[in-house]
Amino acid sequence: MHWTWQRPRRRWDQRRVGGLPIRGCCLLSTRALPPVASEVSLWPLGGAVPWIWLRRRLRAQTTDQIAHRVYVDTGAILERSHAQQAGLGFIGKNTLLINPRRGSYFFLGEILTTCEFDVYNTPQRHESQHESQCGSCTRCLNACPTDAFPTPYVLDARRCISYLTIEHKGMIDPLLRLRMGRWVYGCDVCQAVCPWNRFAIQSQEAAFYPADADRMAPLLADLLALTDTTFAARFGRSAIARIGRDRLVRNACIAAGNSHLPEFAPTLEILAHADRSPIVQEAARWACDSLTL
Ligand code: SF4
Ligand code: SF4
Repeated sequence: MHWTWQRPRRRWDQRRVGGLPIRGCCLLSTRALPPVASEVSLWPLGGAVPWIWLRRRLRAQTTDQIAHRVYVDTGAILERSHAQQAGLGFIGKNTLLINPRRGSYFFLGEILTTCEFDVYNTPQRHESQHESQCGSCTRCLNACPTDAFPTPYVLDARRCISYLTIEHKGMIDPLLRLRMGRWVYGCDVCQAVCPWNRFAIQSQEAAFYPADADRMAPLLADLLALTDTTFAARFGRSAIARIGRDRLVRNACIAAGNSHLPEFAPTLEILAHADRSPIVQEAARWACDSLTL
């Protein structure tokens, strides 16, 4: 995770982004709650990659007559902090931005521009907006499968299933694997248990709806059998494409091991001995051992 320490000044001072003398920053959030839950996190289920869709929406708000940059999970910007300061919500103990009327299932995007805003529209903003409204609740802290919160408001990303399944490229700590259950891409537990998400509004945007039933809850047996070709065909146009076939099959091996279902043993044996990827081989060996325990 060394990239998080690179270019710190750019991260907190958006005036240095993109070589432009930035004077204004416009933030947009959009709801992203599709109608199903599964062992794939909710956000990549849609038919389109969500940040590409949001970037297009933001670009449609701009004109070439002004200098601007559109950012959606693009680079060195502390989107969550800017959004909090802009009055879009408060930071919860699960470290996520929570909007009191919409919960936390949304994406953030920004237009950075050389235009100076006369009046900055800050909906619902008042001093208490900056303060956490978690009260005595500790649901997310207690529910996290990997104990990734050393204290409230602090996330140890190295233990987070979202980081491990999506960003982490190597082998996963065996002690954490046991706690990963059947998550193969991301994790929603600390959002799913949050009472503020009772107010989450289901998105009407087609891009956030599952492209097909297969994407909602892919069968583990199918994931274990993925090749580069079948991975590209099934996930090539989705957010899952970014982790590639090897990491998804590695995650599927761990999920199969945690399932304790012997039906996966023959496929895992083949992966353990013959797969071209060392991370898949190692995860498959671990899963085979788990099935025989
Ligand atoms: S996403 Fe899952 S693993 Fe990560 S902090 Fe939340 S509950 Fe824990
Ligand atoms: S689950 Fe409770 S403690 Fe965690 S973010 Fe939501 S309100 Fe705050």
